[in-house]
Amino acid sequence: MTDTETYGRFFLPGPTEVHPDVLAAQTRPMIGHRGPGIVELMQNIEPGLKAMFQTERPVIVSTSSASGLMEAAVRNGVAGGKVLSLVNGAFSSRFSKIAMACGHDVERWEVEWGQVHSPDELADRLARSEFDAVTLSQSETSTGALQDLEAISDVVRQHERALLLVDSVTGVGGAETHTDEWGPDFILTGSQKAVALPPGLAFAVASEAMMERSRNAEAKGWYFDLVDLVDQGIKYQSPATPAVSLLYALEAQVERILAEGMKARWQRHLDMQQRTFEWIDEMNDAGVGLGVFAAEGHRSPTVTCVTMPGGTGSPELVERVESAGWVIGGGYGKLSDSTFRIGHMGDHTVEELDGLLDVISEALK
Ligand SMILES: *Cc1c(COP(=O)(O)O)cnc(C)c1O
Repeated sequence: MTDTETYGRFFLPGPTEVHPDVLAAQTRPMIGHRGPGIVELMQNIEPGLKAMFQTERPVIVSTSSASGLMEAAVRNGVAGGKVLSLVNGAFSSRFSKIAMACGHDVERWEVEWGQVHSPDELADRLARSEFDAVTLSQSETSTGALQDLEAISDVVRQHERALLLVDSVTGVGGAETHTDEWGPDFILTGSQKAVALPPGLAFAVASEAMMERSRNAEAKGWYFDLVDLVDQGIKYQSPATPAVSLLYALEAQVERILAEGMKARWQRHLDMQQRTFEWIDEMNDAGVGLGVFAAEGHRSPTVTCVTMPGGTGSPELVERVESAGWVIGGGYGKLSDSTFRIGHMGDHTVEELDGLLDVISEALK
């Protein structure tokens, strides 16, 4: 089968499926990253990145996976004080571990996997002790839980010192997110999730307060120095050699994203989420016994973590789906046997999702 024939069957929650046209864009010949070609390329890319983040600020383009920019967040955004890490799954836990690995004093505020953090309780904690930064994962890909980023941003903004550092890796590009309006200090995503590109690039927006913190940061290293990344970025340059082929893919993909429009893109993700919930209801009416892992009312439009009938057997299910020619995600970490995950994000459609849900229904029999 050609790529085009199998397209629409790869529902991992990262990396996600990449459109054949976007994949093909990567085969263009190299250009020098100090010549005029790169300037034109980055100029073409800029409007799409700004639309995805809903920002007028510069969007940082990093040749790294998203975890690189999580490290950038703490290296540039913490000034010797404490970090409050909101932990509700594997990736928000990683954020706290990155802060610890950078030598920072980290308070881990853990809630059960699948739950989210209460903005009111966050306000209490920030009133009780002083923090340099708060870390969180907006959309926790291991559980499918969605934090209320707008409400949390409101709370953190009341505190002069604390900066809000947001991992939005399965948020931006799929879940409605308004960077300038909500005002997180640093919000990052990776290329291979809701943006539907191959892995290897990461994007972020830093607030003015974050840039000020970075200017004074002592041990921020070189590769992820935000001041340098932004100074060069606004001239359509980068401190080090960028992944040029991935930038070609990004140029092709932002054109597709702008053609769809962000509102339509967010709505398509909500529609896919809704269809997934409906399917679970239909299956349960037929006596199957599926569940949605994340707390009701706090579910990500990009990924659903589904609990297995009887709480076990997801690796076998994932395998049966794979032998039918389709790909879904297994459960993450401690949820590996009890859940599976559908990455209904990126460029997928409800029609493609319907095809997948039929296959999973069969595989559950
Ligand atoms: C995938 C993911 C990451 C890690 O991204 P990498 O590109 O693998 O570094 C971090 N946070 C969330 C929420 C993710 O889904």
